[in-house]
Amino acid sequence: MTGTSWPGESRVPEGTAESGSGGFTSPVAGLVAARASAGPTGNRLTVLSGPSGVGKSTVVAELRRAHPQVWLSVSVTTRKPRPGETHGVEYFFADDDEFDRLAASGELLEWAEFAGNRYGTPRGPVLEKLAAGVPTLLEIDLQGARQVRASMPEAVLVFLAPPTWEELEKRLRGRGTEPEDVIARRLAAGRIEMAAEQEFDLTLVNTSVQDVCHRLIALLADAPEASSPGRSPS
Ligand code: 5GP
Repeated sequence: MTGTSWPGESRVPEGTAESGSGGFTSPVAGLVAARASAGPTGNRLTVLSGPSGVGKSTVVAELRRAHPQVWLSVSVTTRKPRPGETHGVEYFFADDDEFDRLAASGELLEWAEFAGNRYGTPRGPVLEKLAAGVPTLLEIDLQGARQVRASMPEAVLVFLAPPTWEELEKRLRGRGTEPEDVIARRLAAGRIEMAAEQEFDLTLVNTSVQDVCHRLIALLADAPEASSPGRSPS
């Protein structure tokens, strides 16, 4: 891990199944996690997923700007920072050894390898926010979304879809931040993610960042009209 800040195990209240090591593999920890997915005020965990390049980080950036009351989990990754990314803001950037340690000690709620790098959600901060009733959002890949579904069944899984596959390809290439082989890996992963859309509670088509944010905010606040399952253009 580069830098100094790390929201790790010291922030998990003592005396819970989450403190100490091995939390994710413990069945007791699973129960605590499931209960924590709906906070005391009805706020619950929302997961935003979808193929790389679909615009998840733009949506998340807009949420940060317009709805600071929503807490967005900051993931740990072994990927190198892109220009403009700051440790502790977009990600906690870690080396392989640090990531190994976090995964092995159960400090990650979920983690996955994606296009040659590893990404994971720090467990403690998510459980703390949910317990405090703070609307909480994870922006993670399909493999991570499946792990959250297994350990926190009350979580709402949202799939962000591109208007068309061509649009997705265009956005991924237009970013200009990855070499062609990485783009190819991300597109291959994108095809798998697109095929899994049915596993999600609802799909938002990313035709407008503002509209997607609006729907997400309604979901995070647990508004019933926002929870109707199915596919809806945004
Ligand atoms: P990027 O390298 O473009 O920032 O992210 C690549 C992929 O990793 C995206 O699909 C993103 O949603 C996913 N991702 C980011 N953080 C996490 C995480 O903590 N866990 C998992 N499973 N995927 C993540």
